[in-house]
Parts: sequence; structure tokens; C-alpha cells
Amino acid sequence: MSTPIVEMDGDEMTRVLWAWIKEILIEPYINLKTEYYDLGLPERDRTCDGVTVAAAEAAKRLGVAVKCATITPNAQRVEEYNLKEMWKSPNGTIRRILDGTVFRSPILVKGITPYVPGWKKPIAIARHAYGDIYNAVESRVEGGNSAYLVICDGEGRELERKLVHKFSSDGVVQGVHNTDQSVSAFARSCFNYALSNKTDVWFGAKDTISKIYDHRFKDIFAEIYQNEYRAAFESAGISYTYTLIDDVVARIMRSEGGILWVCKNYDGDVMSDMVATAFGSLGMMSSVLVSPDGKYEFEAAHGTVTRHYYKHIKGEETSTNPVATIWAWTGALKKRGELDGNRKLITFAQNLESATLKTIESGYMTGDLVPTFSLAGVTPQKLTSRGFLLKIAENLAACGY
Ligand code: NAP
Ligand code: MG
Repeated sequence: MSTPIVEMDGDEMTRVLWAWIKEILIEPYINLKTEYYDLGLPERDRTCDGVTVAAAEAAKRLGVAVKCATITPNAQRVEEYNLKEMWKSPNGTIRRILDGTVFRSPILVKGITPYVPGWKKPIAIARHAYGDIYNAVESRVEGGNSAYLVICDGEGRELERKLVHKFSSDGVVQGVHNTDQSVSAFARSCFNYALSNKTDVWFGAKDTISKIYDHRFKDIFAEIYQNEYRAAFESAGISYTYTLIDDVVARIMRSEGGILWVCKNYDGDVMSDMVATAFGSLGMMSSVLVSPDGKYEFEAAHGTVTRHYYKHIKGEETSTNPVATIWAWTGALKKRGELDGNRKLITFAQNLESATLKTIESGYMTGDLVPTFSLAGVTPQKLTSRGFLLKIAENLAACGY
């Protein structure tokens, strides 16, 4: 490797898996170069979260990062780790700095059939992670009062006033917003991801009902596609389709997959959990943050698997699925290889993925996969977290590594 990858270590069971994946599946085979940042909660607390910002800046500078799952502190974690403050979600911080979009995609393997039998290829979901109800202003309104939408200029002079509702009885009101800049960045991230993965793009919103708000999303996407991506899409043999969100849902159910499904913030929140569940286990869902200027941060979609970690520190064996975390590593290695023209690195990452899939397909897997696994002539066997990694290493050696 010539250019280092930004390595962001994390918490709990995934931190344990992280070290084992490097030790068993990566470091013996390649000359791994990383710029290491410890995003484990104790180090975030010690640096007053400075380490998260430094890691995100490094990802901006070097272009490719791989991240372990991290704890987002809540009141209980503040007590457990004796934190100075309830630090913000590291993923949120990194996303803000890179201005990126998160793409989640299931890892398909023979023997694990999606709940929707027609789905043969992965469905990746892009969630716009800015605005809408997630940055909303809300109020309770007493009956007899009225709520208005008011726009003012920089000096506070009123430019426009619209009645939202004249309440005859008690109710609620909500103000949401989005920005052209954020939606444009989202569109570019989606189109870049689609080109990089050679996949069709479907975007759905509700512009027939929301004639200004949702319509703005539709128009921005159409304009950016037309002016910046259409030619590249046509030569890559992929397409962009906009239709109403309910129509997209119906089409997705009937499709065979192989699509990037672009979702507004709330739709993405809900639909990504639906798609993840329908494809099997959380342990088989990969995730990548792509910035509009082409920086990549790869990670697993699941969290730190706390329940398993508490067993692990009591000295019990766990059977925690490392596949999504392995995919974070292979995704980062492949992207680094692509950017540096390093064919050998790409081949290694591809072999590691094949060895992992082959291990599962030959019946060796972690406990979460056993109940859903069904392949003629293969009896699934549950291995420990480390035992599974060692089995993958055997298959990797068989690829000539
Ligand atoms: P989680 O860590 O994803 O785990 C929820 C449950 O899903 C686990 O208890 C386990 O079920 C199952 N599971 C998830 N990943 C698995 C794997 N790789 N192998 C086997 N089973 C797996 O979610 P959580 O418990 O809600 O959150 C735990 C911590 O992770 C929290 O502190 C949260 O802040 C953090 N988190 C971080 C990220 C991130 O960094 N991207 C994302 C989400 C959550 P069983 O217990 O039934 O085996
Ligand atoms: Mg959700």
C-alpha cells in the first residue's frame, strides 16, 4: 500500500472483532498502512471529542476511511463510563464534516434467502441525513390560537406570512426545512455511488401533495442528473428514475433488486430497517458514507453489540457476526486500491470477500445466521466469533494467500 487508510477504532464487541479481523485476516497478508484514530468512548471523553473531529478531517484529506461501530452516549453510558459530557454521535459528527450520504447495502450469500423471494440482488438504500422532521421546530397549540409560517429577511422584516391552521381545539404544529445545498450534495453523492457500483437509481418523494417542498427535491435531482450525470449514466448502461414514493415502494417489492433506492430522511430511516430485516441479519448489512466530492468512509450498519460484549468480558465465548465489519475493511481496501491503481490490493480484498462467503456457504457461520440458513446438503454449524475468523483464514489460504 502507498497511501494509508484512515482507521477509526470503536467500542465493545466490535472493538474486539476489529483487532481480531486485522490480526487474523489482514495483517498476515498485506502490508497494511493506516492512520489510526481511537474513537473508543474513553478516548473521545479524554480528548473532549477532539479525536472524532481529527479522524473526520483525516478522512477528508486521505479520501478513504474504515470505521468500527461506536457507542453514542446516553444518560446510562455517561454513568457507565463516567463521562465529562454526553458526547454527540460520532457518525453524526463525521457526516457533518464530510457532508456525506450514508448508503446501506445487504451482503448476499447462498443459503440465506431474503423474506421477499423475488429479491435476488442487493437493494442499497441512500438516506438523506439532513433536515425534514429531524431538524424540526414543534409546538403545542391551544384551541382558539393560530399558527403561521413566516419568512423574514436578514434584518427581520417580514416578507411572507401564511396561515398554517386556525385551531378551534388543542393541537400541534411543526416547522421543517431543507436547503438546496444539502439536497444538491445528496443528489451528487447518490449519482456518484450509482456510477461507482453500476446500479440503477430510483428516487421517490411526494411532489403531488407537497408541491413546493418535495417538488424542490425532484427538480434538484432532475437538474443535476441532466447537467452532470446523464452522459456518464448512459455510457455505464444505468438509469435514473423519479416516481412517487408509494409507487417506488410497490415497484421495489416486485423488483429483483440491484437498485439504489434514494430516500428522503424519514423514508430512509424506516425503509432501511425494513430492507435490512428482509435480507436477513443486521450482521450482514454494510454501510458507506460518500461525500459529494468523492470521499468514502466504510463501516458496518450495526452497533457495538453490547449484549455480546458483556458476555465476552465475563470470559464467555460469543458468536458475533463479523461479516459487515470485514466488508467495511474490504470496501476501504478496494476503494484505496482503485484510487491508487493498486490491482493487488483490490484482488486481496475480493479474495477475502469470497473466502468469507465460501465459509458460510460451506456451513460454518455465527449463531445469528443459523436459524435462517437453508442450503441443500449443508448442515449449518455455529462457530465462536474467533473460530469463524480462523475458518475464513483457512479458506483465504486456499485462494493462494
Ligand atoms: P446493535 O449493537 O446493532 O445490537 C442489537 C442486537 O442486534 C444485538 O444485541 C444482537 O442481537 C444483534 N446484532 C447486531 N449486530 C450483530 C452482529 N454483528 N452479530 C450478531 N448479532 C448482532 O444495536 P444496539 O444494541 O441498539 O446498540 C448498541 C450500541 O451501539 C449503542 O451504544 C449504540 O449507540 C451503538 N450503535 C452504533 C452504531 C454505529 O456506530 N454505526 C450504530 C448503531 C448503534 P442479540 O443480542 O439478540 O444476539
Ligand atoms: Mg431507523
